[in-house]
Amino acid sequence: MGQIQTKLLLATKNQGKVKEFQHFFAELGWHVEAVPQDAPDVVEDKDTFAGNAIKKAEEIAKAYHMPALADDSGLEVDALQGRPGVYSARFAGEHATDEQNNAKLLQELTGIGDDSRAARFVSAIALSRPGQETLVSFGTLEGAVLHTGRGTQGFGYDPLFVLPERGKTLAELSLEEKNSISHRAKALRGMIEMLKMEGHDGAVSESEQGPGE
Ligand code: IMP
Repeated sequence: MGQIQTKLLLATKNQGKVKEFQHFFAELGWHVEAVPQDAPDVVEDKDTFAGNAIKKAEEIAKAYHMPALADDSGLEVDALQGRPGVYSARFAGEHATDEQNNAKLLQELTGIGDDSRAARFVSAIALSRPGQETLVSFGTLEGAVLHTGRGTQGFGYDPLFVLPERGKTLAELSLEEKNSISHRAKALRGMIEMLKMEGHDGAVSESEQGPGE
């Protein structure tokens, strides 16, 4: 018998992310919604993407007694020994803008040639369910950091991150194109696969339909 778990809370206030998660979980017949606006902010103080994602998902699941999802992501640059990593959002300082973070990245890579600018985006997604072990899934997207930005789409480090096989930066892709290849999309697909292996295949079981059917 399946449990009643058709609704999942996502630990984010970003509506774009909510839509992306909804798209993937629709395959299982599960509904994803953002945590309420007044949800407690979870401090991202772990030193790995998975550590932060697990912490956020488990705190929200505990606070609302419901299954909860959370993700953490960032950019790892080989020439910087994996930095900015979990500090990607605040590389140039607390509350830094994307422009400031990009400028800091270029400054740190000054003098590093084209062949040594390999980098990857990493995403970790965690699903915490009351009484069950937390599931974690990862996705990566390999590329390199340019010397100057190109493109106007996306956010964060997208203008500096080039996909060698396409000759385009992430900021030169449409949202649909980016969402079909991104680190987050890969992590989401992995999470859906894990849930299917648990026996959730999109067919809504009697107990998942809820009362009054
Ligand atoms: P978060 O995990 O969504 O909070 O992302 C952390 C930070 O990593 C963002 O503020 C960006 O700086 C960077 N980042 C994560 N994913 C992407 C992406 O797809 N494109 C560009 N930057 C990203």
